[in-house]
Amino acid sequence: MLRVKTASFFLLCVCLWLCLQSLWDFVTAEEPLIKSPFFPVLFSFTAYMAFCLPYIALDFLSIRLPNLRKYKIQPQNYPTLAMMVPCIIQSAYHHVVLIFPVTFLHWYWRPMNLPVIAPELPEVLLEVGVCLLLFDFEYFLWHLLHHKVPWLYKTFHKVHHKHVSTFALTTQYSSVWELLSLGFFAAINPVLLGCHPLTEMIFFLVNIWLSVEDHSGYDLPWSTHRLVPFGLYGGAPHHDLHHLKFKSNYAPYFTHWDKLFGTFTESHSN
Ligand SMILES: [Zn+2]
Ligand SMILES: [Zn+2]
Repeated sequence: MLRVKTASFFLLCVCLWLCLQSLWDFVTAEEPLIKSPFFPVLFSFTAYMAFCLPYIALDFLSIRLPNLRKYKIQPQNYPTLAMMVPCIIQSAYHHVVLIFPVTFLHWYWRPMNLPVIAPELPEVLLEVGVCLLLFDFEYFLWHLLHHKVPWLYKTFHKVHHKHVSTFALTTQYSSVWELLSLGFFAAINPVLLGCHPLTEMIFFLVNIWLSVEDHSGYDLPWSTHRLVPFGLYGGAPHHDLHHLKFKSNYAPYFTHWDKLFGTFTESHSN
């Protein structure tokens, strides 16, 4: 099984290597759209909803199909349409009234420069990996602080804990301050590292995907935590447990910070 996964990963890397320049040429052909002040908010909301959709479909299918239900982390708790709709409305509202003004200011002060040459694959992999590790650390500290200080928890983080059983659309169900903080952590790291715009876009996509997967409520055979070896990555079961029990698993993706700080819990029975 490990050999198949390694071979698939290697094949994916070769394909990506060959595709990066073509992909970048395809992206830059849409320069007016990419440079438009509306692009970041459209990109963010479209990617978020596109990544949520398969899990929304899975929620409606797996409640009827036991073969799929076995992958649900809390099979006794299923989201209803009445729970999903407010999440979609809140996310759309935040994108329009909060994320758009911020990205507009960013567009005004730091116009996007589109180089002709795409980045090299090793550079993309390294920088996306470093951005993820930095984001993981920054959110771990923010998250720990917002659980340890009762006023911070009540005022800013409690809203994200409305649902003790997560489903994909709970990913961005949070306060304005939490959304702005996470957006800032995600945006600042590629800037600090001087990433190519394509690397930055890939990082944003990976970050949105991983955060949706974290909240999906499913432990699927191809989930990221099953692909990363040695228990280095917590993923959906790790974050689902945080929503269920509140007092552990503060890092969004990796497990090392929780292990170092003694806040790591491995299973739902602990
Ligand atoms: Zn929390
Ligand atoms: Zn969460």
